[in-house]
Amino acid sequence: MKLSPHTNPPEPDSLLIRFHNQTGAAVDITGTRSSSSWYCHGCGQRSTMTEGVVIKRRAANEHAASCRAARHYVG
Ligand SMILES: [Zn+2]
Repeated sequence: MKLSPHTNPPEPDSLLIRFHNQTGAAVDITGTRSSSSWYCHGCGQRSTMTEGVVIKRRAANEHAASCRAARHYVG
């Protein structure tokens, strides 16, 4: 499966945890330990609100385990 340049960008300074979906695309949790959000570089889905990293870790991990997208566009 081919990855696009958009699926594994450089790690941002605010990165707390990086998961990888089933294609290897990054699913990043960014922010602080008490106020974080997640974003999937494979499909573009993101969390709708900020929460503690423990809650976001579960959601991002579940998303990464089920997501098979490798997006080929920016935005
Ligand atoms: Zn995804």
